[in-house]
Amino acid sequence: GGGGESPHIRRLEESVVNRIAAGEMIQRTSSAVQDLVENSIDADSSTISVTVKDGGPKLIQVSDDGHGIRCEDLPILCERHTTSKLSAYEDLQTIKSMGFRGEALASMTYVGHVTVTTITEGQLHGYRVSYRDGVMENDPKPCAAVKGTQIMVENLFYNMVARRKTLQNSNDDYPKIVDFISRFAVHHINVNFSCRKHGANRADVHSGSTSSRLDAIRNVYGASVVRDLMEIQVSDENAVDEIFKMDGFISNANYVAKKTTMILFINDRLVDCTSLKRATEFVYSAILPQASKPFIYMSINLPPEHVDVNIHPTKKEVSLLNQERIIEKIKDAIEEKLVNCNNTRIFQTQA
Ligand code: ADP
Ligand code: MG
Repeated sequence: GGGGESPHIRRLEESVVNRIAAGEMIQRTSSAVQDLVENSIDADSSTISVTVKDGGPKLIQVSDDGHGIRCEDLPILCERHTTSKLSAYEDLQTIKSMGFRGEALASMTYVGHVTVTTITEGQLHGYRVSYRDGVMENDPKPCAAVKGTQIMVENLFYNMVARRKTLQNSNDDYPKIVDFISRFAVHHINVNFSCRKHGANRADVHSGSTSSRLDAIRNVYGASVVRDLMEIQVSDENAVDEIFKMDGFISNANYVAKKTTMILFINDRLVDCTSLKRATEFVYSAILPQASKPFIYMSINLPPEHVDVNIHPTKKEVSLLNQERIIEKIKDAIEEKLVNCNNTRIFQTQA
């Protein structure tokens, strides 16, 4: 045998634990931006503006016009597990907000420098305060502020050499940021999202605020996409043990693209569902002659107890209760839509 002394087991210091957890929570620049944007959505904002310097971790700014943060809450704002969204474990069953763990802001302060400027309704001035490693660096300073909250994160991963290096070598994160903001903009049509590189005049996403889903898609993905979309609705409310509803827009036979765009929200959370995506692509390739990949926006609503929201925050892939049945229903509906539009098209070209 090996012999030798067994190693001692020690309790890690809290700061070490927090830093390790933070590195898992905030994997890249885009994950930090997504957490900030989700907080702004949770704060009932109607305008959310994102600025990123050089697409990278040097400087991220997210400004919103939401409900703001109370001055008396600022001391614990960036501690781990502090949240306004959840109090009892049972609340998870019915929670509507995207956040609930109270970990995102805390994590950012362990791997970057966070400055918060915020004002709540009815106040004459706002407050600005900076955080490191979960705590305030100074007392909140009164300052001029417009409605809502602005959060600035500087020098993300300043204390993680390996992470900084891999991020430098990997592709710029900015396209990822533009991509998920575009997706949010299609779902939250009454929120005006914008995203630009620091110092740029032009925004790369500018969704406007609208009451029409098609307008939102047009503002973000362009008029040519909207021209080739069909509305689709599926519901399965007759079954005793299962209620689901899907609303969406899917591309028709005229739409041409090399890559699938699949924007999927389940109970208002942006998720990936590989099996649903595959099933959808399969229907398109089976019915349409040319090998075009589809554009899909789907919003699926299920009873909250059928969706487990408490998966790891960075894992967007979901599985649902009765998944096969739901996918089958959706597949059938898409097939019917496509067959109809394809027939009309052939008829039109022949006429
Ligand atoms: P969570 O979103 O899981 O609650 P976070 O660390 O992301 O945890 O945020 C902690 C708390 O800070 C939130 O619960 C919310 O009360 C507050 N907060 C964060 N960002 C904003 C914002 N943009 N506007 C208003 N409140 C915010
Ligand atoms: Mg959050």
